Amino acid sequence: MSNDQTSLLRPVASNPATTPELTPALQTSVKKKRHEVVNLLKAAIAEFGNLSEITFANSMGAEDMVLTDIIQREALPIEIFSLDTGRLPTETYDLIAATEQAYQTKLKLFFPQAEPVQQYVRTHGINAFYESIDLRKTCCFMRKVEPLQRALKGKKAWITGMRAEQSTTRVDLPLRQFDAGNQLEKLNPLTDWTEQEVWAYIRMFEVPYNKLHDQFYPSIGCAPCTRAVAIGEDVRAGRWWWEDPLNKECGLHVKK
Ligand code: SF4
Repeated sequence: MSNDQTSLLRPVASNPATTPELTPALQTSVKKKRHEVVNLLKAAIAEFGNLSEITFANSMGAEDMVLTDIIQREALPIEIFSLDTGRLPTETYDLIAATEQAYQTKLKLFFPQAEPVQQYVRTHGINAFYESIDLRKTCCFMRKVEPLQRALKGKKAWITGMRAEQSTTRVDLPLRQFDAGNQLEKLNPLTDWTEQEVWAYIRMFEVPYNKLHDQFYPSIGCAPCTRAVAIGEDVRAGRWWWEDPLNKECGLHVKK
């Protein structure tokens, strides 16, 4: 197993995927899909109630910034929360601050509980997630899954920015599904968006985004478990790259 994060880094080059040509056809497609997302979110609000019932998990990825922009511009009564695992890249913290500034709002941040993290690090080491899948999953559970469970407690529905084409584990992702693990509805309004449409939206509406995307990081999680990918590689190839691609989810979006 290699945990080398540097082999594919391109700190100077700019990723062409983040600057698609804004052709009239692409802009029309984005506006149409934006309209559909707004309708879907409004229908969800009508069905599930208000701020205390429906919540949006913002991972600060490109897709989630699109949804954040739509929710804020449309002034939709949907709570936005993020998980601060304690191991995020500096660029993600910069984006959290930029987002709060751009939309004049505060994201609701959830943190891991200190005691299990302390015990894990004292027992296994600060970077033990590289040593085995079990240790990686334990780390993801205490830094992501458990805080997510707290964030979703008492909610009727949650919204994600997941897309079907993001990975082999998401190809059949529906617009809506029941999340049996967390016992609530899960909405994936961007499931049929392409990467090109996501970036076209970000450019058209001047949405804040994580600058690591320009350095070939299509999917960004914790700093030690994320690296750049090569052109043409699966967009999730830079996450837990030392593991089997069919099984590398962090536990936030497991199929039941
Ligand atoms: S992505 Fe890596 S550092 Fe982050 S919670 Fe999972 S194993 Fe831990």
